[in-house]
Amino acid sequence: MRKPVIGITCNTVLAEGTMLPGMVRAFASTDYIHAVAKAGGVPLLLPPVADPAIARSQVIAIDGLIMSGGPDVDPLLYGEEPLEKLGVVNLCRDEYELLVVKAAAELKKPMLGICRGIQIINVAYGGTLYQDVSQITGCSIKHFQTTAQREALWHTVSIEPQSVLATILGQQAIRVNSYHHQAIKNLAPGFIVTAGSKDGVIEAIELQNEHFVLGVQWHPEMLAEKSPSMLALFEKLVKAAATQI
Ligand code: MN
Repeated sequence: MRKPVIGITCNTVLAEGTMLPGMVRAFASTDYIHAVAKAGGVPLLLPPVADPAIARSQVIAIDGLIMSGGPDVDPLLYGEEPLEKLGVVNLCRDEYELLVVKAAAELKKPMLGICRGIQIINVAYGGTLYQDVSQITGCSIKHFQTTAQREALWHTVSIEPQSVLATILGQQAIRVNSYHHQAIKNLAPGFIVTAGSKDGVIEAIELQNEHFVLGVQWHPEMLAEKSPSMLALFEKLVKAAATQI
């Protein structure tokens, strides 16, 4: 039997300074690729496309899905005007990823959202975001870490004891890395919050009574090489994806 194929959504960037100027490239960080392979899956990069039928065909071709990290989600997609602290947005990627999440929801493909991934999943299912964590009353923790090593742990997270996440991690309090300045505001229907930081920022969500859909606000792919509990998130996705074969 073949191994489960895990699609990883790509970002796009105008890559200057190469031999061919003006080229737009689709890419994903190799940390996602390595984490999926280490967890027993087959990593497959999914480049953004505009055609909904092609996006849907991409989702049909995979067994599980990682919505990867990246730039801010365009606030117009959840009914807000852009505020001063909004960062870079990539509307082509936003529109593509909304197609992908909706196709994955319909086809019941297991899905893991990471950082921007938890946010776009929440928006695709009908939720909203804070454009910057400074909008959150009581938000006192620095959520964009400033460490010399990207794999360094930063703030603590409390996990709901009865959650799927607690089962995966085997712990109810962990330290995570943190590279985000946006966060979930209104939770999408059907989801529950299963982890939060001490200042009340939502750090993980799960879809209830459905196939496996879980989002985390931190970056487990950067930690999976050395941390068995962070690798376990990818192993859970691969295991859920195996049921699709
Ligand atoms: Mn955080």
